[in-house]
Amino acid sequence: MQAISVRQPWAFAIARGGKTVYNHVLPTAYRGPLLIHASMRVDLGSCDSPLIRSAGWDPRDPLATLGAVIALAELADVCTAALHGERCGCGPWAEPARCHWRLAEVRALPRPIVALGRVDPWVPPPSLVTEVHAMLATAALRHSR
Ligand SMILES: [Zn+2]
Repeated sequence: MQAISVRQPWAFAIARGGKTVYNHVLPTAYRGPLLIHASMRVDLGSCDSPLIRSAGWDPRDPLATLGAVIALAELADVCTAALHGERCGCGPWAEPARCHWRLAEVRALPRPIVALGRVDPWVPPPSLVTEVHAMLATAALRHSR
């Protein structure tokens, strides 16, 4: 498993707001489960942007936190069209001149798990992966009752 550290409010937008593209300067050959970690840095200028408002940004939401894992996603594909100035179908979250890491099956955690981030992408320690899986399994059980 790998993880990415994303500034708020963008991390929240992935976890709750349907943001299915992560913009990064580099592509990756990795495909598979990807932890979404809210980094300690905040992109204050974007909190009022229409995109973030459309994602339902709520600073009181527990997943609006800093320095914690808040969701689990699948890295399904990486689009590099924008690197060459080409158009692509990655949608409103895709930024120009960036690689578009396309996320699928995003699952928000019931509550954040405090963790230190690293330089993207990073490999989460096994104990963190275990905790995420246990939390999602418990949540699924509660929903099925
Ligand atoms: Zn794209």
